[in-house]
Amino acid sequence: MIIMNSEATKEEIANVVREIKKFGLKADISQGAYRTVIGLVGDESKIPFSHFAVLPGVKEARPVETPYKLISREYARMAEGETGNRIIKVGDVEIGGDEPVFIAGPCAIESKEQLFKTAEGVKKAGAHILRGGIFKPRTSVHSFQGLGGNGSEGASEALSWLREAGNRFELPVVTEIRGESQVDLVAEHVDIIQIGARNMYDQDLITKVARKGKPILYKRHFGAGIEEFLSFAEYIVAEENRDIILCERGILPLGKGRSYTRYTLDLSAVPAMRKETYLPVIVDPSHAAGRRDLIFDLSCASIAVGACGLIIETHHNPVEALVDSQQQITPDELKEVISACRQIHKAVQHCQRT
Ligand code: PEP
Ligand code: MN
Repeated sequence: MIIMNSEATKEEIANVVREIKKFGLKADISQGAYRTVIGLVGDESKIPFSHFAVLPGVKEARPVETPYKLISREYARMAEGETGNRIIKVGDVEIGGDEPVFIAGPCAIESKEQLFKTAEGVKKAGAHILRGGIFKPRTSVHSFQGLGGNGSEGASEALSWLREAGNRFELPVVTEIRGESQVDLVAEHVDIIQIGARNMYDQDLITKVARKGKPILYKRHFGAGIEEFLSFAEYIVAEENRDIILCERGILPLGKGRSYTRYTLDLSAVPAMRKETYLPVIVDPSHAAGRRDLIFDLSCASIAVGACGLIIETHHNPVEALVDSQQQITPDELKEVISACRQIHKAVQHCQRT
């Protein structure tokens, strides 16, 4: 990390960037309110920090110990002079701002009617962003794969419904991409691109999505450690995209046989990731629990430990849902969750440390 003096000139910054390139690394420039900090993308061991420390305009040059240096809170603090929390703006919605953000909608888009009914319901319930799966990652090839399913033409139509519903109910929209071939098409239609838990490790996919320059809802794999998850998020910033919403969605449960919950919600990941990074952290209680009777409590708990928002599967008629029927809630239930979470957020906001 090269920390510039707060009054460093453009020429001095450009000179440092040129020097970094000479050593075969890429420079990540973070122009904060306070000063410019230049991160190094690549193998830092090639960098003679003592050489950089005495270049004009440089305050300090030193290696960063964590493997996720470009998203580290330390890095943002240097540039911004304070916490440096990143607020991601999507339309009028601020993720990581003063208010908690609620993303809701069906697990899978099944029909235009189902999407519009649910979208209307979640809007009335107070949600800010509409979700709807089109390319569903499924364990069985025999299950419903989403309307984008097996590369069918249904994808474009479902994406246009999602856009239309978003416009009608004034909700930015998010959907998951499951593979590289879907990136261009999905990026044309949505405000936020979701990378699902199963794809957390797919470097090529992450990089391709990051280059679209759109906010990314990035989910933690159910077997990934926090450090590993944050290290992979670094691939997105390396493409100069800092609009990353980190999402905890449950890790593999313990015990033999069928477990009570689908996954185990790792609540400790929320304050841990907020401590380590400046990125907003949200929670998906739906996939963590896998059952609707736990959604209210897990939502409240998530906000209490510092989540900036929630993504909750909601369906106008959950029992008829084609995917994840047992974990989806109704718009009325969502309204109760949102109301309780807003109160909790108000109560805990002032005592959170980041
Ligand atoms: C989803 O949000 O639709 C989903 C499949 O979630 P996850 O990637 O967390 O399993
Ligand atoms: Mn689902």
